[in-house]
Amino acid sequence: MRYSDSMARSAEHLRAALPLMTQQKAALHPASYAVWYEFVSGINPALNQALNAKTAGGQTLDEAQTWALYREYVCELDTATSERISHGLCQVLDGMAASAAAAGQQSARFDQSLTSWVERLLDNPPQQAQAEVLQELLSGTREIRGALSNLQQKLDSSQEEINSLREDVRRARSEALLDALTGLANRRAFDLQMQKCMEVPPLDQSSAPCLVLGDIDFFKRINDSYGHAFGDQVLRAVAQTLKGVANHCADERAALDALPARIGGEEFALLLPKGQLPIAQQMAESMRAKVAASRIRRGDTPGEIERVTISIGVTQMSQGESCDSFFSRADRALYASKRTGRNCVTVLAA
Ligand code: GH3
Ligand code: MG
Ligand code: MG
Repeated sequence: MRYSDSMARSAEHLRAALPLMTQQKAALHPASYAVWYEFVSGINPALNQALNAKTAGGQTLDEAQTWALYREYVCELDTATSERISHGLCQVLDGMAASAAAAGQQSARFDQSLTSWVERLLDNPPQQAQAEVLQELLSGTREIRGALSNLQQKLDSSQEEINSLREDVRRARSEALLDALTGLANRRAFDLQMQKCMEVPPLDQSSAPCLVLGDIDFFKRINDSYGHAFGDQVLRAVAQTLKGVANHCADERAALDALPARIGGEEFALLLPKGQLPIAQQMAESMRAKVAASRIRRGDTPGEIERVTISIGVTQMSQGESCDSFFSRADRALYASKRTGRNCVTVLAA
């Protein structure tokens, strides 16, 4: 169990966590509480280190930072831990299987030698008592051999079971990076890719990562007018359009590692780690035009179609810039598009 504190101890953690939580910009939701609970209880040293770094000098956590900490250090810990355990278990089993096989071979050799000694002795009968002891020795050895081969079979089948568990863990991990509604990469996958972008400095400014951020216009109205299910249908359609734009990028270099993602309710992103701002701008414009031109059918009723538009912001990372600053410039570009009437693309150069 992840939390094993007694009622009294957990109440202490609650009293310690609450004032810290209320000093942040993030709302007081369960994910935020999980982060602060683990922080004050000290059960998750990696989280404490990351949190101390983020709040150094009196800085406070916003929603995105709180969720990022939750995703990275709290909710994903179990999957990472289970993978580590299953990997360790596999190594132990491999070692045991090898020893059992070696022991089996040794005992088979011993059995052969023993058989030949016994046969030689029986051909030339010694005292009755000695013959009986030798027979017992022989049957004892055969028992050991039987037990060892049994053990070998059990280890083989445990190995298969562990392999299938490892496959489950691998699948769970890749599903944890996908948005269930649209099948695009989710916010976590997007954040991880953003982090990766920071690790490899670009050769020059033109190949610095580019970010396209899109937000569906008046989406609340679509939900309110036609219901949440239709809203979901619109989200899937927009996701397909974004996927199409990402997959049909004419510039092969820019398309390398391009990541279309759904990063919030009706917010989408296309991260281009290999840069080229003009290409990012073209892709954004193509995305905008395709969404605006699409007609989404409502249910099976012929003729009932809905138009949807999307506002987009585009930017490029500047040298030595942080993820947060890169992302907020794309966000500012997006909101400039909202302010200037929506259904348009705004580019803010680095
Ligand atoms: P704007 O043009 O300024 O972006 O207006 P908006 O209405 O699109 O923006 P607002 O942020 O007011 O509303 C976003 C809505 O998206 C509110 C929320 O109910 C809806 N939403 C968020 N996630 C989902 C989802 O998974 N499915 C559906 N159907 N709706 C969602
Ligand atoms: Mg929005
Ligand atoms: Mg919107």
